[in-house]
Amino acid sequence: MHLEQSKIPVIGEKPMNIDPYRSLKVETIRKDFPIFEAHDNPPLIYLDSAASSLTPLCVIDAMDKYYLNYRSNIHRGIYQISEEATAQYEEARKKVARFINSRRSSQIIFTRNTTESINLVAYSWGDANIREGDEILVTVMEHHSNLVPWQLLAQRTGAKLRFIEVTDDGVLQLEDLDGLLTERTKLVAITHVSNVLGTINPVQSITTAAHQVNAKVIIDAAQSVPHFPIDVQQIDCDFLAFSGHKMCGPTGVGILYGKRDLLEQMPPFLGGGSMIRSVERERSTYAELPAKFEAGTPGIAEAIGLGAAVDYLTDIGLDAIQAHEQEILEYAYQILSEIDGITLYGPKPRQRAGALTFNLSGIHPHDLAGVLDGEGVAVRAGHHCAQPLMQRYGVIATARASFYLYNKLEEVDRLYDGLLKAQKLFTRRRR
Ligand code: PLP
Repeated sequence: MHLEQSKIPVIGEKPMNIDPYRSLKVETIRKDFPIFEAHDNPPLIYLDSAASSLTPLCVIDAMDKYYLNYRSNIHRGIYQISEEATAQYEEARKKVARFINSRRSSQIIFTRNTTESINLVAYSWGDANIREGDEILVTVMEHHSNLVPWQLLAQRTGAKLRFIEVTDDGVLQLEDLDGLLTERTKLVAITHVSNVLGTINPVQSITTAAHQVNAKVIIDAAQSVPHFPIDVQQIDCDFLAFSGHKMCGPTGVGILYGKRDLLEQMPPFLGGGSMIRSVERERSTYAELPAKFEAGTPGIAEAIGLGAAVDYLTDIGLDAIQAHEQEILEYAYQILSEIDGITLYGPKPRQRAGALTFNLSGIHPHDLAGVLDGEGVAVRAGHHCAQPLMQRYGVIATARASFYLYNKLEEVDRLYDGLLKAQKLFTRRRR
């Protein structure tokens, strides 16, 4: 099976639904984010949502309400406020399930973040299913969260990692997939959207190809779920992991979606309270899903806050958010590519989401980020937890601007001005 990049539909393999009449009312949206009011001189230009998004007031309110009105533990108390906390926590799970079209809410496991979700699969499913000589297929563009757990699994079991390479243009070299997927491949671990290049990978087609050799598929959706509609049943992936803090939710809550039969067969990841059915001196039996994978007291306020974030994004509409970000990305790509000495990494805007990564000749990205910070523009500089990708492009670090629903085109102009200022400053210093 060959996948040609040119045949890959853009954005999550659904046609993009850009409707100009649904364009976002950004000024109204910005009023939902109190942090903008706290930094009005100079105004905060936040271009680092790929690291962590900002939090709208409704999410803060939902968490406050828990602490102020019904703060208590869940699933245990036979009294009113605990029942309220349990109901709100479980309601958040249902909201997340609907958000990604999971068949059942019991297939949604709350974790701390994407990293923990992926580690859960690596230790639980991985240790039970991966043997010496098996192969785990990953890509060169993975975040360390979707690479190091597989390296550790390979070291524990004697399995081998294989890599889908990345082209100079920042897309996966999918013509190699035929040769890489064999009966030895037991798992394909792939990011939906690269946190560095913004590349949107055709995860549905890759999943179909992986299933043809009976490999399971885990998708790192940390950079896709916040930005465009995801349907896990349509993709047919076996696992999908993402983080609350990149989608207007609080830090400290992540999600693992899994197919029910797999989750049911998997042994627990962490042992302790809440995940058991009964405990004897030498052995225990375990609770049904999802409790089996939620040992100990979870981030209750965090899950409730995430539920509010899901409501918030759903009300605005993921299609509208996606269209808005595309507009900003296209504008940013166009004006930044006019700067002398700039290298933009990754594909053209229509094949990407969220992030724009670049280097300016002769200026270290940390210095660039420092100058931009002086202008009130927050961007990320570094290896972005993707060192193999940096090595692929022969760089140690890059600068990255990433966009979300609250960003404005004028902010891209400020980024552009800041880059020119940095260029002037550093050229003068070198003279
Ligand atoms: N995967 C991708 C693609 C990411 O961008 C990130 C965070 O930047 C992660 C995984 C890890 O997310 P977390 O730190 O929330 O576990």
